[in-house]
Amino acid sequence: MNTSDNGFFGEFGGMYVAEVLRSPLEELKSAFNEAKDDPVFQSAFAEEAKTYIGRPTPLLHAKRASKALGGAQIYIKLEGLANTGAHKINNALGQGLLAKRMGKRRIIAETGAGQHGVATAAVCARLGLECIIYMGEVDIKRQHPNVFWMEQYGATVVPVSSGSRTLKDAVNEALRDWARNYDTTHYLLGSALGPTPYPDMVREFQSVIGNEVLEQTRDLEIEAMIACVGGGSNAMGFFSPFIGEKRPRLIGVEAGGNGIAPGEHAVRMDGSGAVSVVQGYKSYFLLDGEGQVQNTHSVSAGLDYPGIGPQLAHLGKEGRVEFERVSDEQAIDAVKFFARNEGLCFALESAHAGAYAMRLAPTLTEDKRIIVNMSGRGDKDIFITARAIDEDNWISFLEQEAVR
Ligand SMILES: *Cc1c(COP(=O)(O)O)cnc(C)c1O
Repeated sequence: MNTSDNGFFGEFGGMYVAEVLRSPLEELKSAFNEAKDDPVFQSAFAEEAKTYIGRPTPLLHAKRASKALGGAQIYIKLEGLANTGAHKINNALGQGLLAKRMGKRRIIAETGAGQHGVATAAVCARLGLECIIYMGEVDIKRQHPNVFWMEQYGATVVPVSSGSRTLKDAVNEALRDWARNYDTTHYLLGSALGPTPYPDMVREFQSVIGNEVLEQTRDLEIEAMIACVGGGSNAMGFFSPFIGEKRPRLIGVEAGGNGIAPGEHAVRMDGSGAVSVVQGYKSYFLLDGEGQVQNTHSVSAGLDYPGIGPQLAHLGKEGRVEFERVSDEQAIDAVKFFARNEGLCFALESAHAGAYAMRLAPTLTEDKRIIVNMSGRGDKDIFITARAIDEDNWISFLEQEAVR
């Protein structure tokens, strides 16, 4: 079934939190369950999704790319055309509307690379909510453009200086804030993970992607659907309506990074991940010899999370979702390939799914169809892609820009 059984997906999921966080999580769970069956809430979400996000996003038949690869027909779901440039806005909007309905005027969120922070800050500006974003000091330095846009949307970005000063420390700080302030505050979590009800709730808000695909492919038989997997929100939203069926094949692509050594990748589903409880839920996590969360690497900032959403962990274990890996280099090659052959600018995260489609398509006949979820567009990645593809020109451009 495509929803948790009392917070669990098989052995994964749950609500492993300090006592103080139980009541806000229970309150959130009932509010979400009521809202999801309320036509008034549903139509408010649909209206904002249409006019503010720009939904439905198109499903594009990538004819030139398919021909160049020689095999299956590739279709691309263009989530990159959503306002703010990625799928994250779907979940931010859903939770923002829910927070308003619950009478919470203050939103807190964690962000790593900054994409979730940008989506949350934008939605708060749209809905007139106060917005506080917790972000590790290291990430603030690395992600200046996203910090800039969060602030333009009116958010306060709070630097987190504990631990490794990255995403997991930002999550801890947000949880601490929530425990103190939940009367007035909603914690807007960014992926299909964390304690229940977040995995169910985030999947439901993101399932707008899969439901549109269902509509857009009504008379077409689909062989496979491919999505990149960081925490798992774009994949779960895209796969959601198809999980209960035997077909199409559902394929999640993890970040293979620079190799298979610990610390060089973020692949959890090939046996590298261990079952553990981290940040409120049970799933597969990359851990070091001491049982601490392992450092990870990916060229794409959105795919370097050491854990995976509990429903995907379960679906992987059951075999309904297959997992594959794509390296940094293959992802960058996919960015170049789809730019050249379709005029599309894939986000580096989404390019992992694109790269796997490039591997799969030639193994299938021309009458088969595969769909890639382009979770976001890649304008945000120019500091990485331009350096990887054309370093000298990019550096001299930056030097020139830095002159007062
Ligand atoms: C954040 C992000 C991801 C990874 O997060 P999921 O929760 O796994 O979807 C993928 N693509 C883009 C464009 C992102 O911004």
